[in-house]
Amino acid sequence: MLHNWGKYPFTDARLYPLSSYQEAISALEQLSGQVLIPRGNGRCYGDSALQRRVFSTLQLNKLLQLNEEDAIIRLQAGVLLEDLLSVIVPKGLFLPVVPGTRLITIGGAIAANVHGKNHHHAGAFGRYVKSLKLLTADGQILLCSTAENEALFKATIGGMGTTGIVLEATLQLSRIETAYYQQQSYPATSLLHLIELFEQHQSAPYLVAWIDGLAGGKQLGRGVLHTGRPCSKEELAAKAFPDPLLVHPTAKLNIPRFIPSWLLQPLILRLNNAFYRWNNRKPVSQTKHYASFFFPLDAIKHWNNLYGKKGLLQYQFVLPFSASATGITAILATVHAARISPYLVVLKRMGERSPHAAATDFPMPGYSLAIDFKYSPQVLDLFHRLDEIVIQHSGRIYLTKDARLPAAAFRKMYPEAVLHSPEIFRSLQSERLFDL
Ligand SMILES: Cc1cc2nc3c(=O)[nH]c(=O)nc-3n(C[C@H](O)[C@H](O)[C@H](O)COP(=O)(O)OP(=O)(O)OC[C@H]3O[C@@H](n4cnc5c(N)ncnc54)[C@H](O)[C@@H]3O)c2cc1C
Repeated sequence: MLHNWGKYPFTDARLYPLSSYQEAISALEQLSGQVLIPRGNGRCYGDSALQRRVFSTLQLNKLLQLNEEDAIIRLQAGVLLEDLLSVIVPKGLFLPVVPGTRLITIGGAIAANVHGKNHHHAGAFGRYVKSLKLLTADGQILLCSTAENEALFKATIGGMGTTGIVLEATLQLSRIETAYYQQQSYPATSLLHLIELFEQHQSAPYLVAWIDGLAGGKQLGRGVLHTGRPCSKEELAAKAFPDPLLVHPTAKLNIPRFIPSWLLQPLILRLNNAFYRWNNRKPVSQTKHYASFFFPLDAIKHWNNLYGKKGLLQYQFVLPFSASATGITAILATVHAARISPYLVVLKRMGERSPHAAATDFPMPGYSLAIDFKYSPQVLDLFHRLDEIVIQHSGRIYLTKDARLPAAAFRKMYPEAVLHSPEIFRSLQSERLFDL
């Protein structure tokens, strides 16, 4: 039984671990036309990496070539960001875009075209993919870039694994002086105040806000904006940090599998939110290592177990700037009125769309909100109401977090989406979204 990070849904699946390109070609041949989907580390939330047959790329995990002078790396698609960072950080190199977890593969980062706290400045992950090698439905390995097989290159970035199996990629890296970031936090009393702060600070390279999902009325959308920028060597030397290019630690805390889900109850959440707001009641400045700046949730292994056996559902959507304030207010008010506790609520400012990405690519200039809920049938009903608000405000939801979007709503959100090789590469999600 296989599931992704949200643990909803489950499916009975056969996993094909691939350890070489030849093995991938042979497995594809042997399955002669049966449907399958590639999988990285299963960190998508819903059913994007689920199918009856799943090709796991985790053993395709070799770094192939590093050109330090030009900051370019060629590597296999199953390499985890965390393993890549352990090698490149000591050399003063980093990934230009990282999501909120380092426990994803390069293939997963390309297929979802993941974004970070710097989308408004740096765009999404796909912008830094110089080329990739793709195993297609007819068993060929094609080199794809903006110069070669361009249409396939575009369809693969943000294509959610439906064009083939990314075996290898060449990436542009960025340079860092230190592994540390300077974070400044600003409290906001409402959603409008928070958006005002985002706009004031849009020149900061990194921006993200935490929202108190339990607040309603005039305080709806109150939260804390965190801005960030890289820390220079001189600044760090003044603060006496011993190793400016320190690699992230391994997580020590672990949430066991069968922890009772009542532990995560509204009272604890209320206390947690109050504590967070108290800590950030005044503007605060902090020097943070990249592990806690980019990946705070990775400090606790398997934190998804906190949500219990039934799992969690995340609703992440983006709305254009012109509709963000009214649309996000309507979404938060609908959640509040439903009396269902949202656990983690995160707001980001998104920049331009990628010119080289699939029609299913998520980002658009505007604001994106992500809300975590414990699974329940009432939450699924609530999501249908939220879909309507998102559509009314010309927005869309992020497919890598989705487990239940109906086909009709998907067509309104992504009117140009098409499936590339529906006869071979399709997930349970694409079967649902494309009515297959
Ligand atoms: C705690 C947490 C925080 C997160 N924060 C963010 C965030 O800030 N920003 C963001 O954008 N995302 C975020 N995500 C989502 C995550 O980055 C994406 O879901 C990512 O795609 C997961 O990568 P994976 O390797 O686990 O791939 P999987 O989950 O295994 O697969 C995801 C998709 O990629 C496809 N795929 C995987 N490998 C390949 C391959 N080799 N070839 C072709 N297709 C492939 C799969 O078919 C599937 O459609 C977060 C997830 C978690 C759990």
